[in-house]
Amino acid sequence: MTTPALSPLEILGFTHLYSGKVRDLYAPDGRDDQLLLVASDRISAFDFILDPPIPDKGAVLTQLSLWWFDQLVDLVPNHVVSTDVPEMVAGRAVLVQKLDMVPVECVARAYLTGGGLREYVADGTVSGLPLPAGLRDGDRFDEVLFTPSTKAPMGQHDEPMSYEAVVAQVGAEHAEALRDLTTRILARGNEIAGERGILIADTKVEFGVDASGALVLADEVLTPDSSRFWPADQWEPGHTQPSFDKEFVREWLLSPASGWDKSSGEAPPALPAEVVERTRAKYVEAYERLTGLTFRS
Ligand code: ATP
Ligand code: MG
Repeated sequence: MTTPALSPLEILGFTHLYSGKVRDLYAPDGRDDQLLLVASDRISAFDFILDPPIPDKGAVLTQLSLWWFDQLVDLVPNHVVSTDVPEMVAGRAVLVQKLDMVPVECVARAYLTGGGLREYVADGTVSGLPLPAGLRDGDRFDEVLFTPSTKAPMGQHDEPMSYEAVVAQVGAEHAEALRDLTTRILARGNEIAGERGILIADTKVEFGVDASGALVLADEVLTPDSSRFWPADQWEPGHTQPSFDKEFVREWLLSPASGWDKSSGEAPPALPAEVVERTRAKYVEAYERLTGLTFRS
């Protein structure tokens, strides 16, 4: 089991509702149609919240998501109401529409790696879809695949979900819209990121339903927490790709240097200062390369 977030902040005019692995949710006093979504510097891997936090990570995730929401606005409506937030969380919080969240992790894959690769090696399929033999780690798919998974409660692992299971959960119409929007978000993301020398191998988005029944993009989008970012000039299928995301932390945890045995069920050791600093640098580099802006903390 993971431990939920440490003690949340006291923010005048807001009531703390919930802490996820990364974000803390607050309700503005006196209204129930909005939420204050505060991204912390916590980092999670293998469903553990790691120690220590990564400086500036919450601000990078928040700023990058806001930038992407703008890039995608003609494709999908998003939950952002305002970035005018209390000073103590400025830069890492947004006021959002409170949505009825769809209980599906909407994953899209443009390249074969990670969980998709594991399934392909075992069964020759990705999310149940048969694929040609001979694909390698890092190969690009002809078209973006929708590979949804369940949204497991805190401390449990998400499980792959068939498209039929999504239909059973949300109905045929919403299931089709989720598949369409999720794959288009990744395809558009790759058009934009490609011009900046980054490949987005896969990503996870979350949607909610608003009061009118429409699907709205929520949470975060195309960040190094929710996506695998690869430097395009080093892309070479056949082995693990170098990345700008938390894959770096996962690799350190699995390396002999960490001394951690993933199968032990025990919490991972603290990250050394060098791993923390390099992780921060990767998050900032992803932000700066994608947006063309300089990150200011
Ligand atoms: P979990 O919710 O399982 O803890 P997590 O650890 O990834 O997942 P965080 O990203 O830390 O969670 O927290 C964000 C939470 O806020 C998620 O549960 C997400 O579904 C929820 N959320 C994001 N945007 C909205 C929104 N507009 N309305 C309601 N809930 C939202
Ligand atoms: Mg999340």
